[in-house]
Amino acid sequence: MTTIVWFRRDLRLGDHRPLANAVARGGAIVPVYVHDDAGDPWAPGAASRVWLHHSLAVLARDLAARGSPLVIRQGPTASVLAALVAATGADALAFNRRHEPHERAREAAVAAALAARVALEISDDGLLVAPARLHTRDGEPYRVFTPFWQRLREVFVAAIPHAPPRRLTPPPRTVAGVPLDTLALLPSTGWDADVVAHWSIGEAGARRRLDAFVADGIEDYAAQRDLPAADGVSRLSPHLHFGEISPRQAWHAVAAQAAASGRLGVSDRAIGWLRQLAWREFAQHVLHHYPATSDAPLREDFGRFPWVEDAAGLAHWQRGTTGYPIVDAGMRELWQTGWMHNRVRMIVASFLTKDLGVHWRAGAAWFWDTLVDADLGNNSFGWQWTAGCGADAAPYFRIFNPILQSRKFDPDGHYLRRWLPELASLPTTALHAPWQAPPTVLTAAKVRPGIDYPVPLVDHGTARTAALARLRQMQA
Ligand SMILES: Cc1cc2nc3c(=O)[nH]c(=O)nc-3n(C[C@H](O)[C@H](O)[C@H](O)COP(=O)(O)OP(=O)(O)OC[C@H]3O[C@@H](n4cnc5c(N)ncnc54)[C@H](O)[C@@H]3O)c2cc1C
Repeated sequence: MTTIVWFRRDLRLGDHRPLANAVARGGAIVPVYVHDDAGDPWAPGAASRVWLHHSLAVLARDLAARGSPLVIRQGPTASVLAALVAATGADALAFNRRHEPHERAREAAVAAALAARVALEISDDGLLVAPARLHTRDGEPYRVFTPFWQRLREVFVAAIPHAPPRRLTPPPRTVAGVPLDTLALLPSTGWDADVVAHWSIGEAGARRRLDAFVADGIEDYAAQRDLPAADGVSRLSPHLHFGEISPRQAWHAVAAQAAASGRLGVSDRAIGWLRQLAWREFAQHVLHHYPATSDAPLREDFGRFPWVEDAAGLAHWQRGTTGYPIVDAGMRELWQTGWMHNRVRMIVASFLTKDLGVHWRAGAAWFWDTLVDADLGNNSFGWQWTAGCGADAAPYFRIFNPILQSRKFDPDGHYLRRWLPELASLPTTALHAPWQAPPTVLTAAKVRPGIDYPVPLVDHGTARTAALARLRQMQA
């Protein structure tokens, strides 16, 4: 008996049902990663490619240590897997489902090529509950989060995650693959070193982060989660996206911590974090049932929205030179770490789509290239949510004021000073809107408007009025 285990966005050994089932059945295991991004509209962006490289390196090391090395191959997935079945005489192909439309098409091609030749064993470890299992009383997909969350909690059974296998039986003959470097996932210019330094990529790093957050962070999550300067959120998103940790493991870690501290159930505060994890489920649910939402608005009326062509404004937003400190700090955090705090994601997305009136797709594309957690479900959902055209979205007319948001969520200016060192000497009262500061204050802090730090690209009040006029134009 030989099973090919096809690794995708489940780059871990623990709580991996395809792998655990193959080990339980016995026989040889051929772990495989297929790199197939030619013509893929959603091939990973630059930051994701860097993460993928390091995550694959860790997975390969962990598999080799257990006895069956990772086989990396390149090419059209269905033909690569068919060739591997032929070469290894495998009886089964086991893998985890994905929910992005192009990945579902890939799975269909694999099934068409191989269903008659091997047993296909398909699991769904990427989510707590498979999207097709959740529907409203009328049998429709959910478009509102709260009832979705209620139903998820009814349906989800918190099973104990599978332990990572201790030993894997290799196939009798070595299966050839290509070295990881052949995939050329890393950039040639070396910009990635700074990004990588912020993270501990791979399954063990993901586990440490989860355990540390559950032990020390989760009880303060509700109070801290909106403060970008605080260490108040889990930063698990890239680990979850690449499947270095499963959502079931995350859920179980929270429940186990509650049990260990003698509580009868998970505290309300910890539930608050699990609820956030359910937004990830909701975003995947929406993408699964409305696959066009990676490109098109869920609310069809937004198909008529008069978006503004503003290449210069978009470039300033991307570089973090809009003149609004909270926007610029977020965009620089993104550039330097491959991640941005959720509150600031909402602020920068509102600024792009409302103050500048630029299409949400342009922002989503930039995020796709620069985020290490770039995820088609979450990213499309987050952008459509902010732009007012998605599921359970913030109404378009709710336009974030970047100065008030900054004062409210970074009151001491720690976040701004960290990412905008050129403003670090300004007193906090002047930091959130430097152009409003008296010249003496600016001079004392060595900030020359337009030289050391840009003047605002737009006046927020005027931009807000223009944004609302665009909404009325769509509704006319
Ligand atoms: C415009 C925009 C774009 C976004 N793009 C992405 C993206 O490409 N990839 C991505 O993973 N998240 C995206 N998000 C959602 C959210 O900002 C991140 O998941 C979160 O900031 C990750 O930080 P964390 O792991 O510390 O989250 P925590 O607050 O610790 O939450 C735990 C986990 O829950 C999930 N989660 C939390 N908030 C959300 C949310 N609003 N929507 C969906 N899932 C959520 C994430 O998997 C996260 O890791 C986007 C949000 C916005 C507003």
